[in-house]
Amino acid sequence: MFADVIVDINNVEVDKIFEYSFFDCKITLGSRVVVPFGKKVLEGIVIGIKEQSVYPPEKIKPILRLLEQTPALTKETLAMMEYVRKTCYVTRALSMRLFLPSEMRKGKVKEQFTRTVALIEGLDLEQAINSTKKNAIKQREALQYLSENGKTKASIVAELFGASALNGIVEKGFAIIEKEKYFRSPYKDLTFNDKNVELTEKQKNAVASVENTDKTTSLLFGVTGSGKTEVYLDLIKRTIAKNKTAIMLVPEIALTPQMLKQLRAKFGDDAAILHSGLSAGERFDEWWRLRNGEARIAIGARSAIFAPLENVGLIIIDEEHDGSYTSESAPRYATVDIAKFRANLSGAKLILGSATPSIESYKKAMDGEYNLIELPDRINKRPLPEVEIADMRLEVRRGNNSVFSSALKFELEKCLKNNNQAIIFLNQRGYSKTVICTECGHVQKCDACDVSLTYHREDNSLLCHYCGAKYKMITACTECGSPFIRYGGTGTERVVEELKKLYPEARILRMDRDTTQSKEGHFKILNQFSAREADILVGTQMIAKGHDFPFVTLVGILDADMSLHFSDFRSGERTFQLLTQVAGRSGRAEQAGKVVLQTYSPENSVLRQAINYDYVGFYNQEISIRKATAFPPFTDVVRVLISSEDDDTALSATKAIHGQLNALYLENREKFKFFGCMKAPLKRLQNKFRYQVLMRIDAGEEELLQTIFITCDKYKSRSIFVSMEVNSNNLT
Ligand code: ADP
Ligand code: ZN
Ligand code: ZN
Repeated sequence: MFADVIVDINNVEVDKIFEYSFFDCKITLGSRVVVPFGKKVLEGIVIGIKEQSVYPPEKIKPILRLLEQTPALTKETLAMMEYVRKTCYVTRALSMRLFLPSEMRKGKVKEQFTRTVALIEGLDLEQAINSTKKNAIKQREALQYLSENGKTKASIVAELFGASALNGIVEKGFAIIEKEKYFRSPYKDLTFNDKNVELTEKQKNAVASVENTDKTTSLLFGVTGSGKTEVYLDLIKRTIAKNKTAIMLVPEIALTPQMLKQLRAKFGDDAAILHSGLSAGERFDEWWRLRNGEARIAIGARSAIFAPLENVGLIIIDEEHDGSYTSESAPRYATVDIAKFRANLSGAKLILGSATPSIESYKKAMDGEYNLIELPDRINKRPLPEVEIADMRLEVRRGNNSVFSSALKFELEKCLKNNNQAIIFLNQRGYSKTVICTECGHVQKCDACDVSLTYHREDNSLLCHYCGAKYKMITACTECGSPFIRYGGTGTERVVEELKKLYPEARILRMDRDTTQSKEGHFKILNQFSAREADILVGTQMIAKGHDFPFVTLVGILDADMSLHFSDFRSGERTFQLLTQVAGRSGRAEQAGKVVLQTYSPENSVLRQAINYDYVGFYNQEISIRKATAFPPFTDVVRVLISSEDDDTALSATKAIHGQLNALYLENREKFKFFGCMKAPLKRLQNKFRYQVLMRIDAGEEELLQTIFITCDKYKSRSIFVSMEVNSNNLT
C-alpha cells in the first residue's frame, strides 16, 4: 500500500505531498509516521491511502514506523488543515502544526504512568493480618490502611509504611501493584460549585432560538452581566446529551480557569482545557483526553478551535469581537472563519457572543446572514453601572497633577470604607511609558527598534515592549550626560505606588503581563481577588474582560483616550469595546456599581456612546464612516510587509514588489480603493527595516488576494522577509 504524507518541514520548496509505501495495517488516514527524507528522518502525517502510486513503485521509500496507534488527526481536522493552508497562504507543514500539541510533534512528552497498589479482591483482611510475622507491624498497618483507603499510589504507601512493608504484602499475595495511565491535569485545586440557576425566560428563548434557527451562526448580543455564560452552559449540556461534542473559546488565557470552573462544576472530567499556559505534559494529556473521547468539551483560547474532537455539535466564541481571535503570526487566521468552516463541516451550531459585537458581525446579523439574539438587560434587571466623566483638563487646571481625578479619589475612599472592591484599569504596564532627559529632551530608545523604552521599576530596567530587549536603567542621559531624568506616561507599577501612598491600609494586587509570567499566574491573582484577599486590582486589558467579581462596586478607567489616538481604522471600535467591557466589571451583584472615566476629550462621540451603552448608535455612526471611507467590512485592508536587516535590500525589494503590484493595480483599478507604498509606521523592529505596500480592495476578491500573495511570495529569501496580512488588527 501507498500513503500520501505531509512531512513536518516548513519550507516552500518542499511544500508537497510525498509518497511512501507501507505494510503495517494500523497505518491509516491521520496517522503520524516517521519517514526517511533525503538524508534525514522526519515526522509526518498520512493524508491519503491508495493502492497505486504515481511514482514508479521501486523509487518509493517505505514508512519507517507508526508513532501512535490512534491517528492524531481525523477526517474533519484533515479537512480543516487543508482549508487553513489555502486561506492563510501557508505551507502544509505550518498548517499541520496547528492541529498537534507542539510537545507531541517533537516527541518530547510521553504518556505518564503511575504505580498503584490495592488489596486483592476478596481478601480476608483478618486472616491476612494474623498470618503476618509478629514483628511485621508496618505490613499490618499497610494492610489496614489499604482496606480503609482502597487503591492508593504505590509511592504514598511506600512513604507511609516503608518500601519493604509494601514489597512484603505484595510478595505474600495480599496486595497487587498495577501500572495506570496518569493524567497530568491542570488547575487541580479549582473549586467546583455548580450555581444551578434556573434560566430566565429571556435566556430560555435564547437557547431555543439557537436550536430552532436554520442558520449556522447565531450572534448572541447581550449586555455585560446579562447571563450569556449560563446560556452557553445550557447549550453545551444539550449538545452533550445528544452525544455530540462542544468547543468553547474565550479570548484570554486569563479567562480559561473561570470558565473551566463552571464547566467542571456541571460536566466534571468531560471538560478539557487547551492553551499555551499549561505545562507541556498537561497539554499533551488534555489533548489526548479529547482525542480519545474521554473528554467531550474543549475549552481554551483561539487555538482550541483546532481541538481533536469528532462529531462537533456546538462551537461557542465568547467575546467574539476580541482582537485576540486573530492570529498575528503565520498562519494568520481569523478564528471566526475557521469556526464557520468547522461548523459547516460537521453540521454544528456556531454561537458568537458579545456585549459589543464587532462591526463585521453586527452587519452580518443586520443583513440576515446571522441569527440575531438579544439579551438587553442584566440579570434581575440590575442596572448597568453609572458612569461619571472626569475631565482631566479641568483637573490639571485646578492644580491636580496626580494620576487620579478628585472624583475617582472620592469614590475610591467610599468604596474602601464600605469594604467593597475596586478595579483600576490602565492599558500600560511598567512604571513609566518613557524616560526623557529634562536637559536635552532625548528619549531612550531600543537599539534594535524605532520605539521608546518603558521603565520597569521592579527590576530597575528599561524594556522594549516590541522586541523584549532589556537594558539597565540609566542614571544619566546617554546623549548629554545630564542626571535629570523625567518619567513620561504612567504605567501600572506607578499606579500601585501612588495608591499605596494614598491608601496605606488598602491591599492591592497588580495584574499585567509582568505579574502573570509564572505558570497559572493569572489564576492565582484572580483567585486572590475573588477571595477578597485584596481591595484594589490594578491591571491592563487583561482585567477588562469577562470576569465576574460580585463585590466590585467601582471601576476607574485612568486613560480612556489612549486607544482613540491610534491611526488604525478600528480605533473607535476598540475604544468602545474596551470601555464597555471594563465598565461591565462593576456592580454585577446586589450592590449598584459606579465607573469613573478619566479623559482629556470628554466631548468625543465614541466615549459618549460608550458611557450611555448605546451600541446601536455607535454602530450606525461607525458603519456609515466605514462606508464613506471605504474600510472593512466594505473592503479588505491588505498589507504586504517587507523587511530586512539591510535598509537598501529592504528598499529595493519593496520597489520590485511595488512595481509588480502596481501592474496588477492598473489592471484592476475599479476593485482598488487605495494603493500606496511607504515606510511602515514602525520603521525599524528587531533590527529590521520595514516597508509596506498598503491596499484597500473591494471585500471578497479572493482570487485577486491569491494573486497578490503569489506575486510577493517569490521575493522571500534568507535576508528578505515578506508577509501578507489581510484585515490585520495590528498595522504597526
Ligand atoms: P455575561 O456572561 O452576560 O456577562 P454572566 O453569565 O456572567 O453574564 O451572568 C452574570 C451574573 O448573573 C452571574 O453572577 C451569574 O451567575 C448570574 N446569573 C446568570 N443567569 C442567571 C439566572 N438565570 N438566575 C440567577 N442568576 C443568574
Ligand atoms: Zn540629555
Ligand atoms: Zn526593541
